[in-house]
Amino acid sequence: MKPTSGPVPLCDIQAQYRALKDGIDAAVLRVLASGQAILGPEVAAFEQETAAFCGARFGVGCGSGTDALVLALHALGIGPGDEVIVPPFTFFATASAVCRVGAKPVFADIDPVTFNIDPSQIEARITPATRAIVPVHLFGQCCDMDAVWDIAEQNRLHVIEDAAQSFGSEYKGKRCGTLGAVACLSFYPTKNLGALGDAGLVTTDDPAIDKKLRALRVHGSEVKYYHKFIGYNMRLDAVHAAVLRVKLPHVANWLNGREAAAQRYDSLIEGANLHGFMRRPTTRPERRHTFNQYVVRVPAHHRDALVKHMKDSGVGVEVYYPLSLHQQECFKFLGYRTGDFPTSEHAAGEVLALPMFPEITEQQQTRVVEVIGTYLRQSVRRAA
Ligand SMILES: *Cc1c(COP(=O)(O)O)cnc(C)c1O
Repeated sequence: MKPTSGPVPLCDIQAQYRALKDGIDAAVLRVLASGQAILGPEVAAFEQETAAFCGARFGVGCGSGTDALVLALHALGIGPGDEVIVPPFTFFATASAVCRVGAKPVFADIDPVTFNIDPSQIEARITPATRAIVPVHLFGQCCDMDAVWDIAEQNRLHVIEDAAQSFGSEYKGKRCGTLGAVACLSFYPTKNLGALGDAGLVTTDDPAIDKKLRALRVHGSEVKYYHKFIGYNMRLDAVHAAVLRVKLPHVANWLNGREAAAQRYDSLIEGANLHGFMRRPTTRPERRHTFNQYVVRVPAHHRDALVKHMKDSGVGVEVYYPLSLHQQECFKFLGYRTGDFPTSEHAAGEVLALPMFPEITEQQQTRVVEVIGTYLRQSVRRAA
């Protein structure tokens, strides 16, 4: 396959708009004509359809994946004095949401193969204050949930899924969103299902939690202007729900597109004999990896130079994530040091994400791999 000669974006969010323009335009106009900008029937329908997609009983729409995490923690009664176990190698919001409800994030290191929380690291972090574990299904692959559940059950802890990057991913035949007491989804535009802007959802099978989430997102009121508890303004806008409803029936196809693209990268990298230099993603058994990101590892001393070379060559690339959360300035007060989570720190030095979206073509992927090959040949020549 001949490579494309043009630039290759990291993610092409406009591709879905181009494909579904008529439906999306009509959905936006329908909301404009309705005069119902926030919550309302569009949001209610979206909540039902999305919960059904996941296999969950209830869905509660909210403003973002970050809102979903705060709502979920709060709805489970987690607050000041409580500790919540989270991985240090994840998007910032997983840990910041714990702080937002007044609780303390406690990190447990990751599995070097999947980048997900390593269940064998959890138990040593449990104290009498621990209330919950937040497994993050990073990049589109589910955590080792059997092991997480065992630990949670033995220690009477809640399990809150951070499924922001894994809409449609499966563990033992069950979709994310049904693998914990509650699950937090994000519809940020680059996620597996992306809104026009910020949007999120919490799923649960528990009617009492559903009721609490619904109250919390509107300032803690079940009856307008009567406040049972102190909640938030974390509502979902109708325009996002309407657009997401147009996209939802296409998600299954898009996930197939991501999987096919990941397989093409696997073979293109091997075909270019780069698989010794670049470690490809590994999918553990009994999982469906949906590749929200295709993340490889390269030797740390090559990583930043390769990123620069790719950018200079017009190929999108990103580092998720360059700094482990326990080393972030804002979390200094937690008292961690460099060296506390070696697997997470090591990953932060080696990872990079290649362009990935359902519509990516073989020509574009061939170009990505060609550019990486050029980098490696140049650096070998320089070293000689
Ligand atoms: C995107 C993301 C979030 C936050 O979602 P937003 O919609 O951006 O607020 C939380 N956790 C993870 C792992 C994410 O990737």
